[in-house]
Amino acid sequence: MYHDLLRRRELFERLLGIDSLIAAGVQAEGCRCGGRLDRASYPRKPRGLPKGLDREYARRESFCCCEEGCRRRATPVSVRFLGRRVYVGVAVVVAAAEEMGVSQGRVRLLADLMEWPVDRRTVQRWVSWWREALPRTRWWQGIRGRLRAPVDPRGMPLSILQAFEGKSPEEAVVGLLGLLTPISIGHAG
Ligand SMILES: [Zn+2]
Repeated sequence: MYHDLLRRRELFERLLGIDSLIAAGVQAEGCRCGGRLDRASYPRKPRGLPKGLDREYARRESFCCCEEGCRRRATPVSVRFLGRRVYVGVAVVVAAAEEMGVSQGRVRLLADLMEWPVDRRTVQRWVSWWREALPRTRWWQGIRGRLRAPVDPRGMPLSILQAFEGKSPEEAVVGLLGLLTPISIGHAG
């Protein structure tokens, strides 16, 4: 089941590795002015992590051009953070990945699984974001044609996870977080 992933340390470490690779690529490319990009990470205090990963997740990679007069900031996309949300992307996907309404029992289950319990209103807000806000974005218009199977936005995020046919829940979640990277910078809606 998807919610088991909330405790799967290996998944969170894997996402950390993916973000490091993305960040290394951005830094290697340098600024568009030709300047070198120096590390200028943002501190983060994300919720929804398994125990013992706070330090590794306390930083959102970002860079700043070293050239006087440019100083352009370059923030790589991320599979860990979904915009400015406090909860990590995995939590926003997994907690909302159910077909029926957000029941009290399910929220209790999620609260047990997460080190930082999430409340029902938060999960409800995530479900609304998936089903109402996200389908209205340009991101969704671009992504829907690339999916292998048609996805009903009213059943998201479960319906989009199921479009990763033949993949394990973990692979589907990693795949979805990969698709979401364009909206991982700034506002996530
Ligand atoms: Zn520059």
